[in-house]
Amino acid sequence: MVKMVPRRGWLRLSFLGLLAVCALVYVYYYSSAAGTPQSLKEKPQADSLRGSGSAADRRAERQSDGGSSSVDGSDLGSGGGQVIPSRACQPISAPKTDVNTVDQFPKFEFQPAWMRGKEFWDTNFEKRYLKRRAKWKKLPLKVFLMPHSHNDPGWLKTYEEYYFHQTSKILQNMIDKLKVHNNMTFIWSEISFLSLWYERAHPTLRQQLKELVSSGRLEIVTGGWVMTDEANVHLYAMVDQLIEGHQWLSNVLGVQPVSGWSVDPFGHGAAVPYLLHESGLKGTVIQRIHYAWKQWLAEQQLGDFHWRQVWDTTGDSDILCHNRPYDIYSIKHSCGPHPQICLGYDFRKVPGEYTEYTIKSVPIDDHNVKQKAELLLEQYGRTGSLYPHNVVLVPIGDDFRYDHATEWDQQYASYSRLLNFINSDPKYHANVQFGTLKDYFAEVQNRMRDYPSLQGDFFVYSDIFSEGRPAYWSGYFATRPYWKVLDRQLEASLRSAEILYTWAYAWAVQEGQARVVQLLEKDYEKLVRARRNLALFQHHDAITGTSKSYVMHDYAIKLHEGLHDTIALAGEAAEALLLTPGAMASLDHRAAPLHHLQPDFERSTYERLPRKLPITVPRDQPRLMVMFNSLGQRRYEVVKVLISTLDIRVTDEHGHEVPIQINPVWNDTGNGMAILSTQYELLFVADLPPLSVITYSIHRTHDSTMDNRASVYSNNYAPAPDQNYSPPFETRDVLPGDIQLESDHLKLLFDGTTGMLRSITDKTSGHVTQTAIRYAAYPSAQFKSGAYLFKPDPNAREPEEDVLSGAKPRLFIHSGPVASELSVMFGAVLMHTTRILHTAHQPLSSAVYMENTFNLGGKYNSTETPGFPPHFRETEMFMRIMTDIDNGAEPTFYTDQSGLNMQKRVRVQRIGIQGNYYPITSSTMIEDSGPGRRLTLLTDHATGAAAWQQGWLEVMVERRTFYDDARGMGEGVTDQKRTVGRYWLLVENTQGPEPVARLSLAAHHLSNDLNYPTIPLINEGLNADQLNSGAHLITRPLPCPLHLMTFRTLPEPQYPSLLPSRAALMIFHNQAPSCTTSAAVETCSGLNDSPFPGTELTLQVGSIQLTSLTATSSQGPITTLPELHIPHHRLRALTLTFPQPPPPTPAD
Ligand SMILES: [Zn+2]
Repeated sequence: MVKMVPRRGWLRLSFLGLLAVCALVYVYYYSSAAGTPQSLKEKPQADSLRGSGSAADRRAERQSDGGSSSVDGSDLGSGGGQVIPSRACQPISAPKTDVNTVDQFPKFEFQPAWMRGKEFWDTNFEKRYLKRRAKWKKLPLKVFLMPHSHNDPGWLKTYEEYYFHQTSKILQNMIDKLKVHNNMTFIWSEISFLSLWYERAHPTLRQQLKELVSSGRLEIVTGGWVMTDEANVHLYAMVDQLIEGHQWLSNVLGVQPVSGWSVDPFGHGAAVPYLLHESGLKGTVIQRIHYAWKQWLAEQQLGDFHWRQVWDTTGDSDILCHNRPYDIYSIKHSCGPHPQICLGYDFRKVPGEYTEYTIKSVPIDDHNVKQKAELLLEQYGRTGSLYPHNVVLVPIGDDFRYDHATEWDQQYASYSRLLNFINSDPKYHANVQFGTLKDYFAEVQNRMRDYPSLQGDFFVYSDIFSEGRPAYWSGYFATRPYWKVLDRQLEASLRSAEILYTWAYAWAVQEGQARVVQLLEKDYEKLVRARRNLALFQHHDAITGTSKSYVMHDYAIKLHEGLHDTIALAGEAAEALLLTPGAMASLDHRAAPLHHLQPDFERSTYERLPRKLPITVPRDQPRLMVMFNSLGQRRYEVVKVLISTLDIRVTDEHGHEVPIQINPVWNDTGNGMAILSTQYELLFVADLPPLSVITYSIHRTHDSTMDNRASVYSNNYAPAPDQNYSPPFETRDVLPGDIQLESDHLKLLFDGTTGMLRSITDKTSGHVTQTAIRYAAYPSAQFKSGAYLFKPDPNAREPEEDVLSGAKPRLFIHSGPVASELSVMFGAVLMHTTRILHTAHQPLSSAVYMENTFNLGGKYNSTETPGFPPHFRETEMFMRIMTDIDNGAEPTFYTDQSGLNMQKRVRVQRIGIQGNYYPITSSTMIEDSGPGRRLTLLTDHATGAAAWQQGWLEVMVERRTFYDDARGMGEGVTDQKRTVGRYWLLVENTQGPEPVARLSLAAHHLSNDLNYPTIPLINEGLNADQLNSGAHLITRPLPCPLHLMTFRTLPEPQYPSLLPSRAALMIFHNQAPSCTTSAAVETCSGLNDSPFPGTELTLQVGSIQLTSLTATSSQGPITTLPELHIPHHRLRALTLTFPQPPPPTPAD
């Protein structure tokens, strides 16, 4: 019954009969492709354990004398054979701070007595206030009234609708009314809106805006393109929207923001304060934090603190942070602890508008001023008693306020009377004036030198003021995953386009390629538009998925447009860099110049997943596939394309043949799955030098061999169309019992019925780690779970619903020379694929790739399966990995902080699963409490993650909630689409938790691989000999931890939306790998904090300046890249100026 075929051992697949589990009887299948496995089996060179590889050193020696920037692509791959040992890096100690949010949070009372009354103010607060009030003579109360308007670039209306209906009027009023009320102040934060207004404004108004800014009465705060969400936004986009805003401000208004204003994001992360610090800001404001934090910070008078990064022992990345003491930023919640009193101080009266404040408030006049002023002073005084310095910031505004000119007059008139009354009577010992954030921070720093320090962050946010019951805002971490994936696709595509554009443009200018320069300059506008489309989506109602469905549709159209344009731009730049001199000379005579490199897929609408198109290969010449490695290190990339014939081979840029695998493409006949005979899936591992564009070639062969075809197993074959049908693949049935996939490094055991992973064996150490995967859903509580909130239904029959039970699992296994993969389909709801690679390259060979294609909507499916309800409802589907890792009785896990670093999390059982879901943008991990194992899950999109039981790690996959959760959006979330989520799962040995948790080097590598995939570009129309085989941007690879975050052509200051300048901003991130894991990585060398000696660009560079993060202020010149020092976890920015083009020469 069991057939055994001995073979060399690089591919094994076995079914373990239920009775024979212990016997581990393998069924071996093999194919002996000539030469194929050899190159895969090459063992790493063990000669260099640390620092640059020997080949790299020789290069450094060669280059140190001559400064030649010529580069040989093969050398860029040096560093192969590295195994970075754990002793090679220094541990980082944790900073000492007055508050560590991880330690403090579990101590809180989460069901405080004041919960029903919604106000934390009690007799203790009142006593302290009265004590403080008695001391006002010595420590006078100082109050800054700060008019503001919160403008969402999209929420209930689209960005443009808001602008034309409301925001344009607000900005117009701002200019008009600040001119009239000449001591009134205002702040503005969203540059997306300000730039739109400015572009349309009369020059006189533009000038007035500049004057208001330079007078200090109008302060531009934060200065990002949007007020970014802080949970879902990944580091690249977070930085990029800040650059876009700051560059615009610097170029157009000549201003650099000094204060941050982040008052509506639903919880606050530690990355934003760090980025603001690096951008030169001096203080920042946060608003929405857990009600227990609000109460505690008020009790402790800790509302102003130095926010320190968890990895910063020196404190030199600290920024002064002001926490707003009450619930939200409206007037009702900003004057003091009693909202019902504050309501009386909102003086807006617009005819026809009838709200809670219009009932409560009356304008201030001579008759009521004394009584109203004294009542208000008590509120201000109470607020002052929450801080040691007795300085109070009172925002006066709300969402889209000051859209009517009268509101400016009304608020100004009443507040002027109040402040004049208070200020004119010395007995009050108080001073109230209009001011901005800059004034507030200057005053508190004048009164107080030392501030307490705090490390950690403010997730998960919970409000209590809405219903008098805790409501956890952890739903939005995973709301609308389709958009969250789309966002990251644009992020990756934009980043590639930026680097390629900068490279090609500088090169073309340098080489005098006037036509290329002209084409690229024309398209700079598209690059700017893509930046702004991505930036817009980082808004706290966009990437969060908390806008109305039609607004989400509008965002997606913008993301899709950006994707289309950036892929086209990347193709254009790559083509310019690869064209041979002959082909370049004939560029002018060509139709559609620089438009010959096209992606291997089409996507006519954002609503559908990209559809791969089969590549046809002619007999007479190969099809070229161009690939760009945007990383500073060599990478091995798994390439999957469709082909139309089986008789092919693939060669790399040196003409060497690479191992390939051909998998079937399946068609659901409705009566089982059939293998298509018109297209196939080609799979190979590309070896890509750092920051290089290289070509791979697909050739036709004279005959096709079975050797590179996958062996196929399934339990769901369609009946053969006729008796003579013979499928082009060796097909077998999935046998009963468990299934095992095996490579040189790993052995994976699967449940033979469900197709779900059960355990991973590390073959080197022999360790078996239980990794049982489970998909299920939390039935959510109607009206309590929605776009923002997550709340499982406490009355549900089962706490977890088996969403997959309605369909029989259909299994497919493809196993060949490159990879073995198992896919299981549960109707249209889920297809889950697990893949291991048969390459020797670390870390790809030691990690497990997983992919989920899911759809809870059913609307866009052609393959809806009987047995499933057509639409799920109140369903929050997660993927859980249940391991035997001991991460503590109160389980501890780690989540990434917007991709900047890892943050420790410890379960707090009292607040339920909804309070224990944390946001991730790229990674989460659990590890044994002592020496042992670590399991890291890397994702390609933002979601929520939790470790609810010991050994468990789960991520939310999709949410479908029919009802609005009463936080203003007014809709449920029912626009699910077929979505693909990608993951790497990595089990490593570790020496135990570090004081500062970090991803391993291998995990960073895999994460960069997921975040910045290579898009294969197919040559459409050029002859193969018209393209060079490769082009390289740097002379040496970057050390392992140094990630090139961006290389972005700065705009011409006079035309910031239109034309490129000769300068580019380059930003590095030191990703700081863990010291305690046994990560084997052979695609990079060295753990240096600086580029290697001799590292240069292959472009001529005029000058290099160190700058602030957003390139608005210079910090002095350096002459070479290796002079740059980037300490662990930090970002460093520099601007490179490229030489001016030579003067035009007369045509010959
Ligand atoms: Zn908002």
